Amino acid sequence: YPEIAFVGRSNVGKSSLLNKLMKRKAFARVSNTPGRTREIHFFDVNKQFVLADLPGYGYARISKERKAEWRPLIEGFLTDSPRLWGVVQLLDVRHDPSPDDMVMLDFLAQLGVPTIFAVTKVDKLRKAEVAPRIQALAAQLRLDPDQIVPFSATTGAGRDELAAALMELLAMPDWRTP
Ligand code: GDP
Repeated sequence: YPEIAFVGRSNVGKSSLLNKLMKRKAFARVSNTPGRTREIHFFDVNKQFVLADLPGYGYARISKERKAEWRPLIEGFLTDSPRLWGVVQLLDVRHDPSPDDMVMLDFLAQLGVPTIFAVTKVDKLRKAEVAPRIQALAAQLRLDPDQIVPFSATTGAGRDELAAALMELLAMPDWRTP
């Protein structure tokens, strides 16, 4: 099955987002493939595709040694997984992208894998603040604001939009085929 990988800093809200996403009827989780490594969790969805929950990166408190572990794990998976179909990179709407976020963004662009961007925890901003904040983030990331899906695991906002973006991504041809 094609795989969609989810990446983001620790605490960005990745687990909450995946839980919310998979509660959607069309995304009913039918089984939990035991992780191939201890730190990547795979969720089979309707026997159609797999959501790969990659470990959170860039947690400020983790040691240099732990950092040295996660980069090869994450980047190795993204480079080597033969079924990788696309990536969802998550950012916390309240925080400017960290250096680790920029490393990941550049890595994904370099790889050439189709990537969806989602900003999490939008319920923490007032409604009127969300659009300008996304514009500012898009400028920092050098993206079009339209490429960023606002999401809240608390309210469910953006869940259908993100699901639709995933379905669109899954309908695309394999990015590795020239
Ligand atoms: P992960 O480390 O990226 O998997 O992050 P978690 O999903 O465990 O979330 C980290 C923290 O952020 C937890 O305290 C969550 O309750 C909180 N959180 C996650 N998503 C949201 C959201 O959409 N809104 C709000 N207000 N809090 C959230």
